[in-house]
This record gives sequence, structure tokens and C-alpha cells, in this order.
Amino acid sequence: METLEGTLIDTLRSRLAGNVLLPGAAGYDEARQIWNAMIDRRPGAIVRCASQDDVVQAVRFAREHGLLVSIRGGGHNIAGNAVCDHGFVIDLSPLKRVQVDPASRRASVEPGCTLADLDAATQAHGLATPLGINSTTGVAGLTLGGGFGWLSRKLGMTVDNLLAADVVTADGQQVHASETENADLLWGLRGGGGNFGIVTRFEFRLHPIGPEVLSGLIVFPFDQAKPVLTQFARFTETMPDDLNVWMVTRKAPPLPFLPEAVHGQEIVALALCYAGDPAEGEKLIEPLRAFGTPHGEHVGVQPYTAWQQAFDPLLTPGARNYWKSHNFSRLGDEAIDVIIDYAGRLPSPQCEIFVGTIGGQTARVAPEATAYSSRDANYVLNVHGRWETADEDERCIGWAREFFATSQPFASNGAYINFLTQDETDRIAFAYGPTYARLVELKQKYDPANFFRMNQNIAPAA
Ligand SMILES: Cc1cc2nc3c(=O)[nH]c(=O)nc-3n(C[C@H](O)[C@H](O)[C@H](O)COP(=O)(O)OP(=O)(O)OC[C@H]3O[C@@H](n4cnc5c(N)ncnc54)[C@H](O)[C@@H]3O)c2cc1C
Repeated sequence: METLEGTLIDTLRSRLAGNVLLPGAAGYDEARQIWNAMIDRRPGAIVRCASQDDVVQAVRFAREHGLLVSIRGGGHNIAGNAVCDHGFVIDLSPLKRVQVDPASRRASVEPGCTLADLDAATQAHGLATPLGINSTTGVAGLTLGGGFGWLSRKLGMTVDNLLAADVVTADGQQVHASETENADLLWGLRGGGGNFGIVTRFEFRLHPIGPEVLSGLIVFPFDQAKPVLTQFARFTETMPDDLNVWMVTRKAPPLPFLPEAVHGQEIVALALCYAGDPAEGEKLIEPLRAFGTPHGEHVGVQPYTAWQQAFDPLLTPGARNYWKSHNFSRLGDEAIDVIIDYAGRLPSPQCEIFVGTIGGQTARVAPEATAYSSRDANYVLNVHGRWETADEDERCIGWAREFFATSQPFASNGAYINFLTQDETDRIAFAYGPTYARLVELKQKYDPANFFRMNQNIAPAA
């Protein structure tokens, strides 16, 4: 990258509406930071794109000079592929425009938008598309890996609501992908990650939601974990699609509705969201309270956008994070026992094990219909190792890996590509399962030189 100093960079700058940050420049260090503080990479240059054409120019320039490229959307991915050492970061985060057409119930979204940006724009019209549960996550990376959250049981995966996209391909061309134009590319974007090009515009289907929803937390003592988890597993198998309930077991944060003596103690929390009439939801969630004797609860009708931000304080950037994830079609007794065993010996106060419930509408799509294929995954379990200092790395990573290995025999097929860490490249084919062979062919068609390889990489066929 040294060769890029001087006149070459000036040439690039002259082609861009945005700017280029080199090491040492003001803003360079902020621009290379991502959510997971385990990743500390020093790119040779960061192109802060200010227009779709900047993306074209950046791709053509990188190709011309044989540069290693990484793509940054929201910068949340745990594997850290948004930044590369010595290479060329195409940073899309300044591209934040959202246009909502309430009549056709569609949103056109630029790739620097966070979930909060998109939710705010759509909820202004009482509409939403299913997204994740942490509002600072990037829409781009979340969508390209599949995308699920509170609304997914009712409305499907985020990719099931992706109608079209504008893409800059590896040869620097702008193409449109929809059901009628480059339909194979749209299929690949619906879960195939950043392998096929840079998406400069997403078009989503929207649905009436809220704007207020019944949602909140019910918190149980950890010594009731077995009955609570067992009843959670059975309840979630038959609950209506409008209701979603997730489970998280961790040490209690200092939440005001919990007695002070509980703060810092292990707990089991059920997080719930009902996407229909709150009065109906109240009746449906009543049995949850009887799963045990709760320490406390904070459940009520609140703006959907507020619930979408409820977990943000626990998921701030800057901590060290290591994840391992399995899919489960059913949570049986053995899996529940392993969860309780490892949740009983958390190696740091911020570590947690959570079970995100999907199923419902996500399971009613054929596995081969989109690149995301885990349609039998009714639960996505994530062991979330999270801590502050490097001297805790070994202990916390070791705990996460051991839990993952011990729970593996009870997991179902596939894995959520967006939860894979940088050391899990050997799980990519397994994660995609039945769609992997077609993804390899598509990669060969759209990116035969593997120009886009800082990702959960699908290598081209040849
Ligand atoms: C705290 C936290 C909570 C999360 N919760 C959920 C959740 O509830 N549901 C869920 O589904 N996921 C969740 N995720 C996972 C999340 O979906 C992934 O981390 C996702 O990759 C983040 O996208 P990003 O744009 O922020 O990331 P980035 O790191 O910027 O991008 C990730 C990768 O996506 C590709 N990419 C990004 N933008 C583009 C683009 N425009 N064109 C082509 N390729 C691109 C690149 O390969 C890049 O390396 C969560 C992650 C975190 C850290």
C-alpha cells in the first residue's frame, strides 16, 4: 500500500465525492474501529464513500492496483471482516438515506444505515420490516447474512423481505437484482453475505407494525433455570407467530425493576414481543409468569422503536467479544442441561448464553428458495463471550468453545453465517448446507477472481 501514497491517492481523491483516510490522518483511527474490540487492524487506506458512484470508483481503483478490499457497513460483524490489515476499506457508513413509500409499502435503503435509522424512517408511517435486536447493527451485513429479530416469526427473515438491490460487481459495473432481473444474484444476496458484490441500495417490503407493541422482560432466579427453560422450550413450540420469546441467561445488570440484591447474580430472563393487539398479547404471555417465581418484570406497551433499542446498553461497542453459535430445531432436556451447566460458571460478568427463537414464517420457506437455508432452525443459540481486557481472553474464549463443543451433539444442521467468528472458516459449507454448491457456482459467475474475499468466503468453483 506504500505505493498508493502521493499521486495515486490524489487521482483517487479527484474521482470521489467522499474522502480517503490514510494512516495518521484525523479520523483514521475512529474509522478503523469496529464493534468487536478484539479486531484491531490497520488498513492502508479507508475510502469514505459519499455516493453510489464512489463505490464504483473505489472498486475500479482497487482492482486496477490489485488491492485487498474489505467492505464496511455498520461494522458490527463479530469476525471483523469490515477492516483489513494493509488493505483498502470501502466504508459505506456515510451512505444513510432511507426513502419510504407508504403507498406501496416499500423502503429504499442505503448501505450505511443502522437498524435504528431504518426503524425510525419506517415507523414514522407505522410500518416495519423484520430486523435484529440491537439497533446499532448495520442493515447491510445483517440482511446479507439472513437477518432475524422480534418480528421474524410473523414476517420471516429479513432476506424474505428483500425485494431488490443495486449492486456494484467485482468488475466495477452497476447492476440491478430483482425477481425479474439478475434473479440469480438476488437469490445469492438473500443470505450469501458480501460475496457477490457491494450492495449500494436495498429495497425492502414493509408491513404495518405498532407503532406500539407489548414487550419487555420477565426475570427469574437462576436456581429455577431448569423448570423455566423447560417450559420456555415447550411454550415456544406452539405459540402464535405474532408472539416471540427469547431466553438469556447471564449475571443481572442493575435494572431498576430488580431488587438490588439480585444485581450481579445469575438470572434467567425471558424477553418478549407481541406484534399484534396488546390486549390479546397480555392474555398470551400470562403463562410465562408462572414458569417460576420471578424476581421482577418490566413488561408493557411501548413504541416498537424503543423496544428495538432496549438491549443497546448491554451491547455497546468497545468490549472484547467471542461468539459460538448453533441452530436447534428443538430444545431438548440434554441441551437445556448443558446451557444451565455453563451459565452457572460464567467467566466474566458480561458473558451470556442466549436463545433467539425464530420458526413461524421463517420456517415456511423452502430451504433452497434463498441462499439462507436454515429453515428448520427454530432456535439460534449464541454463546456470547464478552469481557474487557486481553488477559481474560483465554479464559473467556475457552469457556465459549467448551460450551459449544459440549452442546454440539444436540444441535441441528446449519449455522447462522452472521454469528461465525474469524476462526470458523471451516464451518461455512456446513452453515449453508443445501445451498452451498449453488453459491459456489454463483461466485464463479459474479466474482471468479475472488475479489470480495474479506467475508465468510465462498470460493469460486474453478
Ligand atoms: C450486538 C450484536 C447484535 C446482533 N443481533 C443480531 C440479531 O438480532 N439478528 C441478526 O440477524 N443478526 C444480529 N447480529 C449479527 C449481525 O447481523 C452481523 O454482525 C452483521 O454482519 C452486521 O452487519 P454490519 O453491516 O453492521 O457489519 P459489517 O461488519 O460492516 O459487515 C459485515 C460484512 O458484511 C458484508 N457487507 C457489509 N455491507 C455490505 C454491502 N453493502 N455490500 C456487500 N457486502 C457488505 C462484508 O462482507 C462485511 O465484512 C448482531 C451483531 C451484534 C454485534
